[in-house]
Amino acid sequence: MKIMLPEHYFYSNKAGKAYVSKGKLYIEGNVNYERLIYDIVYFLKGKTTCYYCGNPLTSKKMTLDHKYPRFLGGISIPENLEPCCKKCNLNKLCMTEEQFMVWSSIGSIKEKDLFFQNCVMENTEVLKKKKFLIPSEWIEIYDVSRYFRDVPFKRINKRKYKKLEIYFEKWHQYSKPIIVSANGWVFEGNHIITHAKKINKHYVCAVVLENVIVKKNSQK
Ligand SMILES: [Zn+2]
Repeated sequence: MKIMLPEHYFYSNKAGKAYVSKGKLYIEGNVNYERLIYDIVYFLKGKTTCYYCGNPLTSKKMTLDHKYPRFLGGISIPENLEPCCKKCNLNKLCMTEEQFMVWSSIGSIKEKDLFFQNCVMENTEVLKKKKFLIPSEWIEIYDVSRYFRDVPFKRINKRKYKKLEIYFEKWHQYSKPIIVSANGWVFEGNHIITHAKKINKHYVCAVVLENVIVKKNSQK
């Protein structure tokens, strides 16, 4: 998929930079993917009002919400992120945007809680059917075997890896797709790839960012 990008954009830190040129995002050096995407989202969508309640945002109350929650495979791309206030982000939890809109319109706390419980059940059913909740056109089946050697992985976090193993045993799938640049750099999913390698699984779900190019080794 092609992610939403500003026409003109430049980002830099001590170790690397990123910029948009002719509709493509180029990343050079050591840039943290999530931080970069968050910056792009603020650049595109502004920092002034909450996406959900419309209240003005102050720097203390500002967060970014995953419209499709992480719990359901919600990934960090501009299409799935909205600036919102802390209160809305906290209330939304693992509800989707649609579910949260309904939840917000309900008056009584008791009914709110009931609706929330139903959402949790509903969303769990989705996971049981081995599906992510994010749009299927974002996802493709990706052969990871050739990237096992080429990607310099970030360190494996044992706690996170264990969590992933437990999740996979329970659902026989990963909790989210991996995120890959057009030229095969893995931004998110090194734990997934490590696990796939361990169990000899060659294909995983991926979101390939067709308009994002990594110009040199950016993952240390
Ligand atoms: Zn809000």
